[in-house]
Amino acid sequence: MSFRSLACLVLSLAATSTCLGQEWKSGIDWQEPPLVTPGSTNDAPPSDAIVLFDGKSLEQWENGDKWLIQDGVAIPRETAITTKQHFGDIQLHIEWSAPTEIRGEGQGRGNSGCYLMGLYEVQILDSFENKTYFDGQAGSIYKQTPPLANAMRKPGEWNTYQIIFNTPKFRSNGDVVKPGYVSLIQNGVLMLNHFELEGPSSYTEAPHYKPHAETGPISLQFHGDAVKFRNIWVREIKPPVGKRVSAPFNIQPKSAPKRDEKKEEKKDEKKDEKKDGDKK
Ligand code: MG
Repeated sequence: MSFRSLACLVLSLAATSTCLGQEWKSGIDWQEPPLVTPGSTNDAPPSDAIVLFDGKSLEQWENGDKWLIQDGVAIPRETAITTKQHFGDIQLHIEWSAPTEIRGEGQGRGNSGCYLMGLYEVQILDSFENKTYFDGQAGSIYKQTPPLANAMRKPGEWNTYQIIFNTPKFRSNGDVVKPGYVSLIQNGVLMLNHFELEGPSSYTEAPHYKPHAETGPISLQFHGDAVKFRNIWVREIKPPVGKRVSAPFNIQPKSAPKRDEKKEEKKDEKKDEKKDGDKK
């Protein structure tokens, strides 16, 4: 068989299968996904987001009153701030800007951080032309992995972090059932691709998990630098809801109606009689 004939045969079989309409179905009755109205831009909070900082107030945060709010931005002072509300799996949006006054170098320049569940640090650092250890630069999980890229904007320009976080899960005896995962997009560039957390971030200890609650707060680090923050919002991630109502199946094509051969024979006979009559 020539290649052309074989290709024709394959196409013909595919077409036949499509014509038969044997569509595959999962057997799961899915609930309709919730309607979420996007913000006016992709940086603006969608309708179901919890706004954590809108440029006016840090009342959603413990110690929020310690930080300076000026011209719609929040600047770290004295201590870390921690959300009063606790979260599980989240989509988190943060905008931050490194200080325009360049002071220090490495970890000493434009350092802050976003601690997921108050434990797992996504590094915030001025990594624009500022070398440090790679698993400590902007977008790293501190001391666990470097980011996939350096996508920094210049000091004074705004960086956007979109963080997707899935919490670790523990058995009642403290064993890890499932580790935590973090994905990060900075300024539209993928920095962390579903990175598997090894445990909480620590400067002095190797990461290792310690069991904790299913939810926890978000914390922003005070590291002595005047990093600016604006437009912080979070969405809780809820998995799709579905109920299995049957095993997976293919929709069988409707069988063609059976021909009533006797009726058709009679019709044919009548036609023939009519034709004969016309001839006469
Ligand atoms: Mg830090």
